[in-house]
Amino acid sequence: MTATVIQDVPKQLCIGGTWQDAESGRTLPVDNPATGEELCQVADATPADGLRAAQAAVAAQPAWAATPPRERGEILRRAYEIIVSRTDELALLMTLEMGKPLAEARAEVAYAAEFFRWFSEEAVRVDGGMAIAPDGRTRIMVTRRPVGPCLLITPWNFPLAMGTRKIGPAVAAGCTMVLKPAPQTPLSTLALAPILTEAGLPEGVLNVATTSDAAGVVEPLLRGGQIRKLSFTGSTQVGRILLAQCADTVVRTSLELGGNAPFIVFEDADLDAAVDGAMVAKMRNMGEACTAANRFFVHSSLAEEFTARLTARMAALTVGPGTEPGTDVGPLIDTAGRDKADSLVRDAVEHGAKVLVGGELPDGPGHFYPPTVLSGVSADSALVRTEIFGPVAAILTFEDEDEVVAAANDTDWGLVSYVFTRDFDRALRVGERLETGMVGLNTGLVSNPAAPFGGVKQSGLGREGGRVGIDGFLEYKYLAIPTGA
Ligand code: NAP
Repeated sequence: MTATVIQDVPKQLCIGGTWQDAESGRTLPVDNPATGEELCQVADATPADGLRAAQAAVAAQPAWAATPPRERGEILRRAYEIIVSRTDELALLMTLEMGKPLAEARAEVAYAAEFFRWFSEEAVRVDGGMAIAPDGRTRIMVTRRPVGPCLLITPWNFPLAMGTRKIGPAVAAGCTMVLKPAPQTPLSTLALAPILTEAGLPEGVLNVATTSDAAGVVEPLLRGGQIRKLSFTGSTQVGRILLAQCADTVVRTSLELGGNAPFIVFEDADLDAAVDGAMVAKMRNMGEACTAANRFFVHSSLAEEFTARLTARMAALTVGPGTEPGTDVGPLIDTAGRDKADSLVRDAVEHGAKVLVGGELPDGPGHFYPPTVLSGVSADSALVRTEIFGPVAAILTFEDEDEVVAAANDTDWGLVSYVFTRDFDRALRVGERLETGMVGLNTGLVSNPAAPFGGVKQSGLGREGGRVGIDGFLEYKYLAIPTGA
């Protein structure tokens, strides 16, 4: 099946409904992070190709905006059904290009498909309003219109779901788009485009440009004045650059950026639930998730037992290629990702941390890093201020609520936090005091297509998913209607 899934994916650029090579004829390699071997080559778009993709989106915009909402919703609904029916193929493809174990890849396919189902339902719920002006002489009619052609940029860590979380609301709202996936994982996106075509998406609505020259392709689009909206998921560092580029032409911007999630275990926590939650919050996607627990704050009275149980669970995980049955932890995306995790662990040890399990770089091939638990982590360690993006659990201790809330909030990021306590009042109180866009109360998983996903501070702008997920793709339009009264 491996050869077939790779073979079946289009490898070209999708522009205006046709698949085409890059103007330069250049291609870029897609590697398997479990082996380091090349899976295939895909087209490597130049800035000129990017502009052609944007022009195709612009040309398709008027007709697409005029398509009945029900029709747009039904396209998403059909695409949802097709994705679900092809779960095994899409999951294998994702595991091959990204590394996550097949079970996690299947879970991502289901999660990704749900965004299409959710927004198929939202497409017909875009409403407006009618009001009488206070002086009684004007009717105020408010409608909502698609914002226009969008540029969608996605990261490699959730190659399918980060795409559907943007495509779903864009389609539902009546926007056309250019999607630029991460160069490490373009295949999931390239497999998705024909599914949308099969579901009935008209030519030019979704254009896909894979490239190794992200900066060169994207900047002219943002400065060109035709793209009306940027929806970006990736690092805070790149988000800042793109926000600055959007300023010149006042492009609407949604940013889903990095995190530095605190995971707080109070003295009255259900320890079983806390350890289960910790495993999910830390190890989903091998720790390569913006929602990954980055700093474990455990009350000193529970620290020894929590640490021992978490260490035992981490030690029991099987590391290996995601395609092999029984694998719990796949490879990290590349050598840079693996070396970053390793250097953060070394730095923590230099600052006094103890390695309880893991912490050693294995021999190749592949970019594997073992599940690692560090106790006695100093607040001065680099990993306390850096998104680890790997399977490393860093444990710090605390004594009281005020202290831990202050420590948890002592970061520029604010995506998600996790709180474990049996005290409902405290859960709500601490949940409100934590400066994050999302809080998991006695759970290690917050991602849900029906909920508004996003962060505060330098974790981003706007929300994806939930009732508000479509808002970023719509503008208000007000019509003033004098009545002569
Ligand atoms: P990244 O390096 O910021 O890249 C994200 C995307 O932006 C890629 O497609 C990348 O392409 C592109 N890009 C990079 N520089 C660019 C530029 N100058 N102009 C235009 N595009 C550019 O992030 P990543 O390493 O792929 O993903 C990991 C990060 O994403 C983490 O920080 C994680 O927390 C964050 N993330 C956030 C969420 C969320 O919902 N908040 C979800 C998932 C991931 P190239 O690789 O070719 O540069």
